[in-house]
Amino acid sequence: MKVLVCGGAGYVGSHTARELSDRGREVAVFDNLEKGHMSAVPKGAEFYRGDLRDYAAIDRAIAAARPDAVIDFAAYSLVGESVGEPIKYFENNIGGTLNLLKAMISRGVGHIVFSSTAAAYGEPESVPITEDARTLPTNPYGESKLCVEKMLKWIDRAHGLRYSVLRYFNVAGAHVSGEIGEDHEPETHLIPIVLRAALNRAESVTVYGGDYDTPDGTCVRDYIHVTDLADAHILALEDIRKRGVSTTYNLGNGKGFSVLEILGAARKVTGVDIKAVTGPRRAGDPSSLVASSDRIIRELGWQPKLFSLEKIIETAWNWHKNNPDGFKD
Ligand code: UDP
Repeated sequence: MKVLVCGGAGYVGSHTARELSDRGREVAVFDNLEKGHMSAVPKGAEFYRGDLRDYAAIDRAIAAARPDAVIDFAAYSLVGESVGEPIKYFENNIGGTLNLLKAMISRGVGHIVFSSTAAAYGEPESVPITEDARTLPTNPYGESKLCVEKMLKWIDRAHGLRYSVLRYFNVAGAHVSGEIGEDHEPETHLIPIVLRAALNRAESVTVYGGDYDTPDGTCVRDYIHVTDLADAHILALEDIRKRGVSTTYNLGNGKGFSVLEILGAARKVTGVDIKAVTGPRRAGDPSSLVASSDRIIRELGWQPKLFSLEKIIETAWNWHKNNPDGFKD
């Protein structure tokens, strides 16, 4: 099986491309390298530089790579930024994906795993969140992903394009080899920010809001290791190819940790007394997001291997410590 990984030079995309390649699948990567890194792309993968907003570019890449299936990660993904710049998010995340789907249909590629998000749910009515929970995004990023999910349903019906939608919660950690990891510029995600502070790259961490309706007043999130997530993409892809049925799954560990708990765990792993100050809330942040991943465990036998918070932070720390400036390119 040959897989085209859109956004395969980015954080989750590169870990998934690596997993595919380690398991002997043929991999082609399509990426505009705006956020991604060429050195994160596995050796031996074909590479097509292009932007999904450019229909001709993705159409050419699909024609040249002739993949059996696509896994799509190419999107903007910053909640806070999306609140200020909704058009940028809709143009890329919806418009770009629409180009990809059009090109897939015209070139006869019939299977896609689509990277969606817990932000599709918005403020949950109850936790843990199941796939049938109400979807009411509180930010344009979540809205853009939910919109693609809805498009996929109708496109499947009309054109038989089978999909698996994976709604991830908070992805963290790095490949156990330490060869690839998370490298965003600017970095906005909690765990890398905390670890950069441990490396003295920042004086302190700002905790966004201490007055949420949670046990310690800070936001609660469900953190999943990037390699467990990569594994889920491969399982989901194999399943839709085998059964020919489209699916939607949550992906998390089913356990929530507050911002203060993350800080505590990071201090333990790094041995550094990371300083934190409480600031105002960040726009668009729901107070608590915890997944029920029972459906993918039950239906596909997904088994997270790196589920402990310590392991997640340890692998991330291993990457950041050895690559304090991220990738070389
Ligand atoms: N957060 C924080 N300080 C930071 C970055 C993030 O307090 O410098 C909080 C943020 O408000 C959220 C949680 O940490 O509740 C996880 O945020 P992140 O940006 O990592 O992921 P998101 O939940 O937005 O996908």
